[in-house]
Formats: sequence, structure tokens, C-alpha cells
Amino acid sequence: MRFDSSRLAKSKALRGPVILPAAIVMASLIAGAAFLQARGNKADPARAVEQAVAEAFRIAPTLESFVTHPDTWWPDTLNAEDLLPARVLKKVAVAPGDTLMQLLTDAGAEPGESQAAINALHAKFNPRRLKIGQEITLTFERNDADSYRLFEMSLSPSIEREVSVVRADDGFRASETIREFNVDRARVAGEIEDSLYNAGINAGLSNSLLGELIRIFSYDVDFQREVQTGDRFELFFERHYDDQGKTVKTGRIVGASMTLSGRELRYYLYQPSDGGEADYFTPTGSSVRKALLRTPIDGARLTSGFGMRRHPILGFSLMHKGVDFGAATGTPIQAAGDGTVEMAGWNGAYGQYVRIKHGNGYATAYAHMSRLGVKTGQRVRQGQIIGAVGSTGRSTGPHLHYEVMVNGKQVNPAGVRFPSGRKLEGKEYERFRKHVEGMDREMRGTPVMALLNRQD
Ligand SMILES: [Zn+2]
Repeated sequence: MRFDSSRLAKSKALRGPVILPAAIVMASLIAGAAFLQARGNKADPARAVEQAVAEAFRIAPTLESFVTHPDTWWPDTLNAEDLLPARVLKKVAVAPGDTLMQLLTDAGAEPGESQAAINALHAKFNPRRLKIGQEITLTFERNDADSYRLFEMSLSPSIEREVSVVRADDGFRASETIREFNVDRARVAGEIEDSLYNAGINAGLSNSLLGELIRIFSYDVDFQREVQTGDRFELFFERHYDDQGKTVKTGRIVGASMTLSGRELRYYLYQPSDGGEADYFTPTGSSVRKALLRTPIDGARLTSGFGMRRHPILGFSLMHKGVDFGAATGTPIQAAGDGTVEMAGWNGAYGQYVRIKHGNGYATAYAHMSRLGVKTGQRVRQGQIIGAVGSTGRSTGPHLHYEVMVNGKQVNPAGVRFPSGRKLEGKEYERFRKHVEGMDREMRGTPVMALLNRQD
């Protein structure tokens, strides 16, 4: 990590508009350096310093110690070495196949100090758990006249947590900082113009929050046929924010509603007093969780039409015996409910086809798939990906043909009352109603956020 100061000195490129750190300016004053006016000098000394640091590291540095300013004087006889900042900060990101050792040495650290820093890091964070894209901040300090050594390495495995190792007298020491955020509840609402996805993004929802909203409503809503222009949605959710009020993370949705052609569906997250997991309930105390999903595909990824533009998205008819969801080839298809795969393979006009047997005489089938993700006989869970949308078999374009069967006969999913989960009764229901009233009051008192700072 040495840098050749003679090369820089030869370049004579060290004049120009720069504010130096005070210590360096003072040092050069004591040395009796003459000051010349920088005006008219073409070379940019900040650039020269950057090159000098780059030379020391053999890669482009991130220079933070110097600030350019047009009216500043520049000492003529300064040594190039004096221009090197005391510390250099670098941000690197983990790429596929990277090891931390590789990242550190590529950034300019010596193998020995890299290993020592990694060993120290183990006390707070296992480097094997580094994720692709994880940013790592490295600080190097000037060691002697013309070399740098690793001073600090820090990273945030989660938004709340920062771990760092800092050089100490006897090697590196690890420490961690837990950041605490304020939590409140935020409200977002929107109206659907062309698609639920666009409406959600326009309202400032992150992909994860929008996905969660859709997941909650997928039991009851046929996102292909029931969502129309002018429909509305609203959600109330936990929000973590920093001292500046900036949203750093969103938590659970605690209440949500969709108004579809004037019909309002409203759900509340509720934790029953007898334990068990918190779940979403309708205002009358029925769990939204059903044995089968009405939309077994991510509702945000549906297209308004498939194949020929004038072709309607087919609903259930005696001839058709299923419902179609238009989506791009490759869009994941979910198992509508828990069950066993009865068939997974080619099935004539259905193309690549999966049929799942659920309890109580129910079965579901999925056709025209481009890819199968399950095998005959396999157990599947509700929401599990069983394959991808395609256009195999007799099909006009990429879409999912979805059938629901009751006792072996295809039925219209819109007309089926899927077996539902828990119904709150008695004291539990009274307790739930109090929760709903409190939640409604709180929601009404919370202004709709104009735009949520996006954070996935
Ligand atoms: Zn169809």
C-alpha cells in the first residue's frame, strides 16, 4: 500500500482551489512554505490528492477530508505525502461469491490485519451470514508517511444493529450498537385507477407492505375480476421511525380495508386471549384465513388481459369450468390450500397441470403452467409455490387457469363458501369488539400519510 511520492511531485499538479485540513496548513507554514495564488492553474489539487490516495490503495478512494473552494490559496512547496488525508473511508458491497477476506484485501487491507479484524468480528457477527449486497464501511488510517492500515470495519446486519471492529493497541476489538426507533401506527389509503400495484406504489407502500395487504385479502378477493377502477384500499400498520421522523421500517398491518364496487371488506389483526398466533378477523369475529385462496397468485402481478386484447378474462361457465388469471409467464403460482398433490404433469389441453387434494372433498387444479415445482404425492402447504404461469396446452396467452372441485365436480370459486377458520364467540368476541372499537377510533384520529418513505 505504498505510494510513490516522487511521481506525484514530478507532476507538479498540486496547485489549485482547496481547503486543507488545518494541521497540514499549519505544518507547511512552519516549514516556511511560500504561498502562491492558485488562480489560473488548470490542475485540480483535490484530484491530485485523490490520485495519490488511489496510488496508495491502487484503486479509486472515497475522499472525504478535502473540500474544494475557489478562493483558497495553496502552498507551493508542500510535499505530496502531506496531502494524503489522515483517514480514508471506503464503502464496499458484498457480491455473489465474495468472502470477507477477499473484500478486505481487494479494498487495500493487508492479509494479516484482515484476518485479525475478521477474527475479532466473530465475537459479534458471523461473517458467513453476510448477505449479497450488504454494505461494509472500511476506514483506513495513515500508518506512516506513505501507507495506510485498516482502522475500522463496520456493517449493519439489520436496521437496528451496527457491528464494528476498531483497531486497538493489541489488535482489533468488536463492539455493537443497538439503535432504538420510535414506533407508532401509520395510515395509508389509495384509490385504484389502473392496477392495485400502481395504486399501492403511488400511495407510498413498499413492496413488502403491498404484498402483505394482498396476502391478507387473497382468501376472499378474486383480484382478477373483483378489483375495478375506483375501488379503494386503506391500511393501518406499525411504523418504526428515527428522530427525524423518517420511516426506517414498517411492521405488521394491524387493520386493513378494501372497498370493491361499494362492498367494504374490513379486517383487524387480533391476538385471542387464549394464546395462539395473532390473526386477521372480520368485524363479526370470523378469521379471514380460509382453507383455500380465491386468488392463488400474487394479486399485484395480474395483468388486465391476456392473449388478444379484446378477449375477456374468462369467468366460470359450464363450458369453461374454471377462472383465469392473466399474468406474465414465470409468475409464481401458490397452492390454494394445504393438501397432497394428486397429479403434476402434462394433461392434454390443460398443458402442464397440477391438481391438489385438500380436506372435506375439496380439490384445486392449475393449468397451462410453464414450470412445475411439485411432484405427484407431495404434501404442500397453503401459499407454497407449486410452479409458474405459462401458456402450455390449449391457451391463447400466458395465464393461470384455476379450478375448484367439490366432490370431484368443478364449481365456480366465486360461489363456493370455502371452509373457514375460527369464529370468535362469547367473552372472546366481546373482547375482540372492544379491540375493534379502539382500533377504529385510533385509525380515524390518524391522518393519512401523504407518502411513506419507502423502505423494504
Ligand atoms: Zn381457463
